[in-house]
Amino acid sequence: MKQIKELYGEIFNIQRYSTHDGPGIRTTVFLKGCPLKCFWCQNPESQSIRPELLYSKKLCIGCGKCIDACPQKALSRDRVYIEMNRELCSRCGNCVRSCPQKARTLAGRSITVDALMKEVLKDVYTYENSGGGVTLSGGDPVFQHEFALAVLKRSHEELLHTAIETAGYVRWDVLRGLAEESDYIFFDMKCMDSQKHKAGTGVPNELILENAARIVKMGKDIHFRMPLIPGFNDDEKSITALKQYVEDVLELPVKQHVELLKYNKLAEDKFGQLDRLDEQKSMETQSDEKFEYLKSLLYD
Ligand code: SF4
Ligand code: SF4
Repeated sequence: MKQIKELYGEIFNIQRYSTHDGPGIRTTVFLKGCPLKCFWCQNPESQSIRPELLYSKKLCIGCGKCIDACPQKALSRDRVYIEMNRELCSRCGNCVRSCPQKARTLAGRSITVDALMKEVLKDVYTYENSGGGVTLSGGDPVFQHEFALAVLKRSHEELLHTAIETAGYVRWDVLRGLAEESDYIFFDMKCMDSQKHKAGTGVPNELILENAARIVKMGKDIHFRMPLIPGFNDDEKSITALKQYVEDVLELPVKQHVELLKYNKLAEDKFGQLDRLDEQKSMETQSDEKFEYLKSLLYD
């Protein structure tokens, strides 16, 4: 008998009881891999499809247990802190398990569709009461679209409400398949100017804007979100361009379909934890006054 190969995906988190990732209370599954490389990324450990090790100096007490646990001799002491040779690391996770402080995290693990559904279905009674469901986030689910599509289909078979969070940078036939199996779509808009978009994310935005329009045409429940990045898109020109696109091109009311998100500083530290200090930025969150002003440009 012909054996059907099980489909595996790479995920780095399953967040239960999420209240900001779609209607009701939800379980959000974070998939690894992203076609964009935003300089402000909130989950830089999600960008690569491979598992990545994060090390928090803030939590480390310098006990050295991780050094002893490492079979690859990838860890050594640098005064109080621990240095890591990432080329030697086999991503076995021994150092993570041996750390008494939870200062080390391995972001990324393989999981089958069946095993993931078992995890998701543990919360099924919560979904029933709240009108929630399952949300696929990342990274960007488009990066592992076969796996994402299988999870969405299986969720629908279980009568769960489904949502995806995407920046829409993928071939239309791929995105259409995911959109067809999604009851709700969060669509990230980073910047309306294509050159600037490329400078900030690594890719231009023409395909993204075309895909957004195609999803709207499908009649899907779509919600646009623009993360406000200091000095990049938190200005009058950027917000006005977004408003014009949504109202004039997509013909959607901005109040119901667009949300601005304040810059979140918390993720800045993660670049250091991944030994990517050269990419770490220090930017200030918008003041309440500025945030209100930008919202007024969009909604008034
Ligand atoms: S994941 Fe394994 S190989 Fe990598 S540093 Fe930790 S113990 Fe060493
Ligand atoms: S085991 Fe944890 S707390 Fe101890 S030195 Fe390693 S990272 Fe630091």
